[in-house]
Amino acid sequence: MDYFYGPVPSRRLGFSLGVDLTSPKVCSFECIYCQLGATPHKTIRRFSAIDLGKLKKELSTILKRHPHIDYITISGSGEPTLHKNLDKIIKAIKGVGNNKYPVCVITNSSLLHRKDIRRELRQADLIIPSLDAASPRTFIRINRPYKSVTLKKIIKGLIALRKEFKGKIWLEIMLVKGINDTLAEAKKFKELIQKIKPDKIQLNLPIRPTAQKVSLPDKERIEKIKKILGKRVEVASLLSKKTRKKFYPDAKHDIVKFLKRRPATIKDLAQSLRLHYNEVLKCLDMLITDKKIREYKHEGRKYFITND
Ligand code: SF4
Repeated sequence: MDYFYGPVPSRRLGFSLGVDLTSPKVCSFECIYCQLGATPHKTIRRFSAIDLGKLKKELSTILKRHPHIDYITISGSGEPTLHKNLDKIIKAIKGVGNNKYPVCVITNSSLLHRKDIRRELRQADLIIPSLDAASPRTFIRINRPYKSVTLKKIIKGLIALRKEFKGKIWLEIMLVKGINDTLAEAKKFKELIQKIKPDKIQLNLPIRPTAQKVSLPDKERIEKIKKILGKRVEVASLLSKKTRKKFYPDAKHDIVKFLKRRPATIKDLAQSLRLHYNEVLKCLDMLITDKKIREYKHEGRKYFITND
């Protein structure tokens, strides 16, 4: 499959069939917590790379297997709104066979100030936009955006999106210790949330393997931030042991077998085992939680190795 991976278990979306429009990574940001590593091509220029006929064919093959799917999620290896004609892609996904699954788009919000892009996004059922900073300085530190992207534009775009979009909006904030977890920043976030009016706010934590070393805020601090932000806030939790056990048993077994022979990077594993990068990430996440493997850095690169 070129465009789809999964369904993967998601802390936010249940079972999510991933759609990747931007592989290899193309993004307008280079977030310090990004799991995909550096952004080789930081841009705000939109591009077109999808063969819609092939995309429909792949989805049709997947649906014939009747997998459990809660959402079809457009996210992948970068910023999906950088792909042109998102509306046509979403319509194509919805038009395959007897597809009844809701479509979710996960975006870093950098292009939401553009009316044409907000119009394309109207085809989705759920949008999960990110807002990791409430002040311009924090925005630069955490998201390291393309030069013309500003926090002001992002906030303007999010407010306009809420007014125009009839589906659900879950605002996501990735909390990183020492960067955006002060109580002063939380108070500013609250003011912005009151203007943006999302249906829900999700506090995400960098618990999955990331390219750069970032730390989780302390539990007490998370609780205080949650209290400041109000009732509609959820903190993303770990996948349950039952879910971790159920998912990717073969892939996890192959990864452990591989890592017993030699340490490897995420890219090594994806290429050698012919898995999508995001599927490898999911497996590594579960294997680390289950203490089967650990990560370490060598000459600036992140490797994984078994614990025994
Ligand atoms: S927006 Fe997403 S893909 Fe882009 S750098 Fe940030 S975390 Fe990575």
